[in-house]
Amino acid sequence: MKLRTIGALTAAMIAAGAPAQEREDPLTRPIVGQRTAEWLAPRTPARLFGNTYLVGFGGLSVALIDTGEGLILIDGALPQAAPSILANVRKLGFDPRRIRYILSTEPHFDHAGGLAALARDTGATVVASARGAEGLRSGRLAADDPQRSLDHRFPPVARVRAVGDREVLRLGNTNVTAHATPGHTMGSMSWSWRSCEARRCRNIVFASSLNPVSGDGYRFTAPSSQGIVAAFGRTHAKVKALRCDILITAHPDPADAGGYTDRLGACRAYAEKSQRALAARLAEERAAGRR
Ligand SMILES: [Zn+2]
Repeated sequence: MKLRTIGALTAAMIAAGAPAQEREDPLTRPIVGQRTAEWLAPRTPARLFGNTYLVGFGGLSVALIDTGEGLILIDGALPQAAPSILANVRKLGFDPRRIRYILSTEPHFDHAGGLAALARDTGATVVASARGAEGLRSGRLAADDPQRSLDHRFPPVARVRAVGDREVLRLGNTNVTAHATPGHTMGSMSWSWRSCEARRCRNIVFASSLNPVSGDGYRFTAPSSQGIVAAFGRTHAKVKALRCDILITAHPDPADAGGYTDRLGACRAYAEKSQRALAARLAEERAAGRR
């Protein structure tokens, strides 16, 4: 996908008399590509279940948890999305300055592009896997990222706290568990927690993207890609086994109107979809190799 940091829109904003701060903020400078408008389709912020809310967009999920002793945000969408995310938090009656942690699912511009601005504007600590943190600090794709050749960039995040697989982040009434789910990127991390309404509790999973996509020329069948393919295998098994009553995916499935899946076996189905996509990709590469 071709991306560019927009100049035309900036020019239009200047012409329209946008405040200086808005047009000059390097951390919210728009990244525009073929799908960014679709990803950022507006969505009314709403409660999902218990203390959990969705504050993101039609094609990019952002979740908010009210722990009673501060807020947790998951993912930051694109750089230009940060002001809308904060506006959505406010629309639900919360003060964005109460956001203590911002959890990251992967170091790619579409989910992490807004993190630097969100961290700056809220004072929150960004949390990611060790490899995720590396990517967030650099604002660039890792050497082993299947999409490396696209050289997508996003505003780097200066301060990131790294957590390990199965590590639990505790805040107020909520324990969020980190689940390393490498494959799409080696730093991908999914997050789960339990939310309650009266006496009914549900396990909620915010799953990282599991899409086996790549830049031109990358081959999942290459010997150098074996680590990625093996990681996908472990991730599929892990995601299938998660306690998962409600699934939020980094890119919501357009078939799920509410932006989440509230169905038995949602995590299993999500892992199986990735498994099928990877198998098809490997078969395609092998067939191309034989031609
Ligand atoms: Zn990605």
